[in-house]
Amino acid sequence: MSIALRLSGVRKRYGKNVALDGLDLEVPEGSVFGFVGPNGAGKTTTFGIVSGAVRADAGTIDVLGEGPFDPSKHAGRVAVLPQDCELNPFSSARQLLRFFARLQGLSKRDAHSDAERVLDLVQLRDRGDARVRELSHGMKRRLAVAQAFLGDPRLVLLDEPTGGLDPHLVVEMREVLRQQAAKRTVVVSTHILGDIESTCDHVAFLEAGRCVKSAPMAELTRAHAVVRIRLAEPLELSDVAALLEGRDPAIDGLLLSYALHADENAAQVQPELLAALTRAGARILEVKLGETLERAYMQLRGG
Ligand code: ATP
Repeated sequence: MSIALRLSGVRKRYGKNVALDGLDLEVPEGSVFGFVGPNGAGKTTTFGIVSGAVRADAGTIDVLGEGPFDPSKHAGRVAVLPQDCELNPFSSARQLLRFFARLQGLSKRDAHSDAERVLDLVQLRDRGDARVRELSHGMKRRLAVAQAFLGDPRLVLLDEPTGGLDPHLVVEMREVLRQQAAKRTVVVSTHILGDIESTCDHVAFLEAGRCVKSAPMAELTRAHAVVRIRLAEPLELSDVAALLEGRDPAIDGLLLSYALHADENAAQVQPELLAALTRAGARILEVKLGETLERAYMQLRGG
């Protein structure tokens, strides 16, 4: 597994405020990596250090296998969506993207076509000629996300990309991130666990400037070990207990859950189990493998 970004023992303080307190982090290449932590945990500071805007006090930083951020090595290869980025209100969305593309070193012609590509990516092409000040907050956010995908960056850092977006745009943004992952490594910082559950394949939890857990999403949510079934109608545990013997079954309202054995493959056992449960009267609405990320996080924190 290649590593796109590696931080080791990184420390940063602002006066008395300790922002990073020995942060260790490894981001696998090609992943959509969720960087999760409460307000003040150090996410923005980390992005600043990786992209060369903030200087670390100590620790080692390796960006794309070429050491700490250095414009001569990383310009155009690392892209950032800052948390509170201000875009020139008087430029049109299209002009702005062409300008940023030129800054990345693209020729005039390539800058024009790339601006159209990223406008499409965030579904803003029909507002491309609108001035930034005429765009809604969510549209500005999408424009800011679009600029991070100009050119062909290998590593894209997005600080709270879904802040202020409508629910349907949050879903579309997830799709954009997933598509992009085939081509580059994308790190998404957020404090909303639901936003990244179906987007990220790897998650790191940050607390008070330290990484408290970093693991593949499937491992965190125990996707290989837990089955959660949403029922359309209530069910008595006694109706299915014999079928699920040894699987630690539980019913909580309309949620039936049970465990898969360590050596079992869900693809092999689930179809038959689901058929048997249906025959026993379970009206199955939805099946999910694993805990929610929120629950995994609460368990991690002992809550
Ligand atoms: P949020 O989710 O609220 O954006 P964050 O995880 O991005 O938070 P940071 O912005 O990196 O966290 O802040 C980490 C800590 O460093 C906080 O205690 C914050 O108050 C402090 N901090 C960040 N920037 C500065 C600064 N310029 N001057 C002083 N303290 C700062």
